[in-house]
Amino acid sequence: MPQDSYHYRRYLILNIINHLGPISRTELITLTDYRPANVGDIIKELLDEKLIVETGYASSGPGRKRIMLEMNKEHLCAVGISFSSQSVTYLVSQIDGKILFQEATDYEPDLCKEKTIALVVEHVKKILHMFCDRKILGIGISDPHYDPSNYKSIHTLLTNYTHFNDWLYKDLKPILEEISGVQVANYSGVAMPAIAEQRFGVAKGVQDFICVELSNGIGCSICCNGMPVVGASGRAAELGHTVISFGESADSMCYCGKQGCVEESTAFPALAAKISTALKKGVFSSLIMHMNEQQEITVQAIRSALEEGDKMCTYYVKDIAERLGVAISNAVNLLNPELIVFYGFMVELGDFFLQQLEISIRENSLSLVNDFEVRVSDSTETVYSLGAVAEIFSSYLMQENYKWIYQFDRNDLEEKSIKVNGLAEMGELL
Ligand SMILES: [Zn+2]
Repeated sequence: MPQDSYHYRRYLILNIINHLGPISRTELITLTDYRPANVGDIIKELLDEKLIVETGYASSGPGRKRIMLEMNKEHLCAVGISFSSQSVTYLVSQIDGKILFQEATDYEPDLCKEKTIALVVEHVKKILHMFCDRKILGIGISDPHYDPSNYKSIHTLLTNYTHFNDWLYKDLKPILEEISGVQVANYSGVAMPAIAEQRFGVAKGVQDFICVELSNGIGCSICCNGMPVVGASGRAAELGHTVISFGESADSMCYCGKQGCVEESTAFPALAAKISTALKKGVFSSLIMHMNEQQEITVQAIRSALEEGDKMCTYYVKDIAERLGVAISNAVNLLNPELIVFYGFMVELGDFFLQQLEISIRENSLSLVNDFEVRVSDSTETVYSLGAVAEIFSSYLMQENYKWIYQFDRNDLEEKSIKVNGLAEMGELL
């Protein structure tokens, strides 16, 4: 895109408003060095299209009061969809990451393709109708980046990765495009948690971090130098299938075909199985007081038992935290992150689990890379669909062409009197 084109200038101004708004016309003229009339024309067009709004006056500063401009965040939204082996999550978010709607429906792997697609389409139609008075910029699908042509249909992984189906690629996308009339895009699920946290969550502004999923599986999403890592074939960050024990100490066989995987011994089903076996052997635990009518071992029941100092739950939760910590410390040693973000329903086990986990990571990682922070995600159940929504917004704003703007905050630009238009040329080099 030529930098002197109207199109380039329009999106430059839109990205500056998105990143630095509320911002005045005067500031935009100063930053871009464009002619006031050109900036005025572009702003009028963006206002007419309801992409930006005027939000009152600047409260301080010299000269006459200035009308401030910002993104029309209450008007602009996108839909995110993600699939797991058990559920489909739908989410609608504003352009600033505020979640307006979220819903999870059961995913039934045995249902035929046509019926599954029909259910998804029905849900999306309902959502489009609910938000018909807003501007929906697109629909993002977080998919597991599985290309079925690379696998034989009898591949054993498919029985466990039931959500790795080719209809995501071939069939769902064009149908959603037809019913919505907006952009529909598939994004690699591997990157979605990191993108969601970096754009809207606890990793805002952080360049090097890892997200670790603690749920029915142990997942991971990596961001290096500000970029998500997907790997050569889109399957990077399989932390859950790194081996932490072998020989006689290894637990039972993992479904991936190996022994000793961290997921096999530390994900929630493993914890529940260990506790269940102990209960059946007659080990005393206050956990039974907290189990529901179906006698299920839930995260909430274990947490209640932990809070009472229950010895059996304390033992097993500490055991899985220690093992998991070893696996994560290996990732820390390899990647030297400044932040580790936890997401997934196991964070609801509470402080004892998270503290033991952090202790184990720090004990097992090299002291030279031990100065990382640990945080828990704010959107622990929705990171995949939120990441897909974030990518839709980026695509709409053509953020890829203006990445350099996002490296600067307001203070940088003001203090150093940086001209964004000058930076545009630098941006080519960045
Ligand atoms: Zn495995």
